[in-house]
Amino acid sequence: MTEPLSAGTLCIAGLGPGDAQLVTPEVTAAIEAATDIVGYIPYVARIAPRPGLALHASDNRVEMDRARAALQMAAEGKQVVIVSSGDPGVFAMAAAVFEALEGKPDWQTLDIRVLPGITAMLAAAAKAGAPLGHDFCAINLSDNLKPAELIEARVRAAAGADFAMAFYNPRSASRPHTFGRVLQVLLDACGPDRLITFARAVSTPEEKINTVRLGDATPEMADMRTVVLVGNSATRHVGRFVYTPRSAL
Ligand code: SAH
Repeated sequence: MTEPLSAGTLCIAGLGPGDAQLVTPEVTAAIEAATDIVGYIPYVARIAPRPGLALHASDNRVEMDRARAALQMAAEGKQVVIVSSGDPGVFAMAAAVFEALEGKPDWQTLDIRVLPGITAMLAAAAKAGAPLGHDFCAINLSDNLKPAELIEARVRAAAGADFAMAFYNPRSASRPHTFGRVLQVLLDACGPDRLITFARAVSTPEEKINTVRLGDATPEMADMRTVVLVGNSATRHVGRFVYTPRSAL
């Protein structure tokens, strides 16, 4: 019997928010079995180098190139792991890999697996209490892949439907004004007493969790290492915790 041309694999893995204890055993096993690790520079830096493991770190803006390069290596028989922070399906590499598969029938039959991880909003919510305890949504505030008007429209719609919200990529040097506008939209829709949590570098030594009233929130409270959680109209403090009751009644 002839050997299959390729026994390569591609795992698209989530490394969690930072703490090694929050990496799943499944992801650890995939990294141990890998020949090649592919990803954005700071995420690849979280992988311990070892003989026989090639590390391919690239810049943030080349996601489609990175996805294609990983698929190509898997097609050549390598054991490839693409790493994302948090969960790979949340504003990360899993969707980029599937986009790269479109129109590529040879790659579509490869052994491809998505290995989930703990996403930033859930790690942050756990530190604060249970601010996402009722219905919630997640919105990426980066305008790299969608227009600013769509971001504002979604924030307005989510606030109008009384969802709790999680905002990823809230603020960067290249778009310093987006987050200020989002805060204004939220203030208009939710009023000044709504609770907002700024969770920075969750589960790392630099972690900082800060909950304030929307009326006291400023854009400078967020940066690119912050995930921002906004409660719904029932979200409240209990002791040192913030929680959203499970019922809308
Ligand atoms: N796939 C990742 C999100 C990538 S987008 C996940 O599931 O978490 C990058 C954004 O995620 C950052 O701008 C920030 O908003 C958020 N983020 C990632 N790690 C974080 C952490 N440890 N603490 C707070 N926010 C984090």
